[in-house]
Amino acid sequence: MEKNTIVIEHPLVQHKLSLMRKKDTSTQSFRRLIREIGTLLAYEVTKDLPLVFQEIETPLMKMEAPFLEGKKLCLVSIMRAGNGLLEGFLDLVPSSRVGHIGLYRDPKTLVAVEYYLKLPELINQRLVLALDPMLATGHSSAQAVTRLKENGAKNIRFVCLLAAPEGIKYFNKVHPDIQIFTAAIDKKLNDHAYILPGLGDAGDRIFGTK
Ligand code: URA
Repeated sequence: MEKNTIVIEHPLVQHKLSLMRKKDTSTQSFRRLIREIGTLLAYEVTKDLPLVFQEIETPLMKMEAPFLEGKKLCLVSIMRAGNGLLEGFLDLVPSSRVGHIGLYRDPKTLVAVEYYLKLPELINQRLVLALDPMLATGHSSAQAVTRLKENGAKNIRFVCLLAAPEGIKYFNKVHPDIQIFTAAIDKKLNDHAYILPGLGDAGDRIFGTK
């Protein structure tokens, strides 16, 4: 297992991921599936969140009941494919705050250039879940996490659907302190930095742009 990387092997996640990989899966189905997987990933990624006990009254008696500790979660979509996962996370944790980061790869320098950044307040006090379905070269994901740290985030987890070994290696080098959650680790990248066997261009498949 790659360092700091947790593969979510839940059978429902694996089944839905296989459906998403199929080239004949429609845009509508792909979008529904990524949202459903988002919910399942959200369940796994949050399973160790700390709880505090507060007194409540049931219709029958008082009790000490567990509630999530601390500030609301912060979900950050790394655009644009991150928006597909975001929907599913919000289905499960609807009170989350949401940030967006937009990066594009400069075709000449291949450096990730930021074109949009909007983050919620008090990000330093929240668990931040950075969402990007595809960890390919790792450059834009790592850059997005760098920007989260520069803006004060201290407790960050990175969540994707598919990771390439090259991307995990690069991400771990830049951010050895950040855990990666993924549904699968694929074989490798092709010459155009697409993940093999992969599922194609996640953004195009979510939004039907190709
Ligand atoms: N981004 C994608 O959408 N797909 C890949 O295979 C790699 C990066």
